Amino acid sequence: MKRKELLYRCSAVVLTLFLGIFFLAAGAYGAGPKYVILLFADGTGLAQMELGRMANRYLYNEEFTVTDRIFREGALGLLTTQSANYLVTDSAAAGTAMATGHKTKNGMVGVTPEGMPVKSALEVAQETGRRVGIVTTDTVTDATPAAFAAHVKSRKLHPQIAEQYVAKNLDLMLGGGRAYFLPQSAEGSKRKDDKDLLAALKAKGYAYVTNLKELKEVQGTKVIGLFADKALPLELDRDRSTVPSIYEMTDAALKILSRDNSPGFFVLLETENTDTASHRNDISDLLAELRVFDRAVRLAYDFYKAHPDETLVLVAGDHDTGGPGMTYVKESLSGGKTVYPTVENLRVATRFSISLNKAKKLLGKNPSDKKIDEVMAKYFPGVTLSPQQREAIKTGKLYARNFYNLPQNAIGGAISELTQIYWASRGHTQQPVYVGAIGVGAERFRGYMDNTEFGRILIELLSEPPMAKR
Ligand SMILES: [Zn+2]
Repeated sequence: MKRKELLYRCSAVVLTLFLGIFFLAAGAYGAGPKYVILLFADGTGLAQMELGRMANRYLYNEEFTVTDRIFREGALGLLTTQSANYLVTDSAAAGTAMATGHKTKNGMVGVTPEGMPVKSALEVAQETGRRVGIVTTDTVTDATPAAFAAHVKSRKLHPQIAEQYVAKNLDLMLGGGRAYFLPQSAEGSKRKDDKDLLAALKAKGYAYVTNLKELKEVQGTKVIGLFADKALPLELDRDRSTVPSIYEMTDAALKILSRDNSPGFFVLLETENTDTASHRNDISDLLAELRVFDRAVRLAYDFYKAHPDETLVLVAGDHDTGGPGMTYVKESLSGGKTVYPTVENLRVATRFSISLNKAKKLLGKNPSDKKIDEVMAKYFPGVTLSPQQREAIKTGKLYARNFYNLPQNAIGGAISELTQIYWASRGHTQQPVYVGAIGVGAERFRGYMDNTEFGRILIELLSEPPMAKR
């Protein structure tokens, strides 16, 4: 009897030990997505993405990965965008909602309306053992990336945001904004102190790259790449041999973050250029930006296909900018038949070779009629300025309260007459934005929700340590 009891007890202990070890091992592996890739097209709603899809389909006979893969094969959600104090948000409040799950006031980054810091998805990802990165075509300290990796009362505090990045030991930073990392004595610096943040990062073992070639060749897993003093140039104006696009930065980011037995990663990949182009009502540049952004999304989609059980890919806008809409019009201002838009209208939209920001530079301040005619004939052939638009370009005087980026909004308005793609404003609008999700946890983003819910779900998924293949 005694012997039997001992045997019984021993087996119970062995079983408990066995189960304990099993669950410990399972716990150590975790259940969260190992790789989380968040792609942001700043200032885009569904209207922009549908224009991107139409251009790819009808002009280039190519699929548009955002709609044709991510939306179609994954889960599609819509997010409301109002901030804590306004019905129309800015990127700081929208980014904070999506990064932390908390509403804040326009202009505030990673803090509540009272100024209390709130934890971001990136910070949670870092705590649970993943590598973390921020990538943008804007200054890396701009509102959207800052919402994920900094806490400041104003988005304008670029120097402080840069310091917080250094303290945080982010694994990867790519974009513009060198001005905020250099001491005041250095050329191009926008700091008002002697802190040399690039030197500090190099001392911590970061590789520092400044152009496309260096980015392609860089080794190691701690990298900072700053390719301009401020924001990177728009796609139409970019020097393709030296300045990386969002596609090239995405390619590098996925390689850097997944090399050397990666424990998993969370990366934010943002094109700010879609927002900039929309603020200028610049349809040609917007279409170019959407095309290159979509190629970046394709890289993320291919990464997901290579690691389908461990990856979550999210594609989202933070707010709409400009409210572009393709529509039918009357033949002329005196009426006539109704003219519906065709592929030709889209083709015209891709015909112009410089951005409207570049046009502004070429025109200079208070340009003469001769100068205006020269620039229009050379870069915008076939576009006719109305007397009102011409006057606005010459004098900078507003003709509507919501079109105050001059001369860009005036030229953009004239281009609308050819493309039949009109703009509601030069600014952000109230429209809900999309989130396309594919991979581990994607289903949770389906449906209509507030942008803070996006942040809460993302944080929940990243709270789980990364799963590993067994
Ligand atoms: Zn904006």
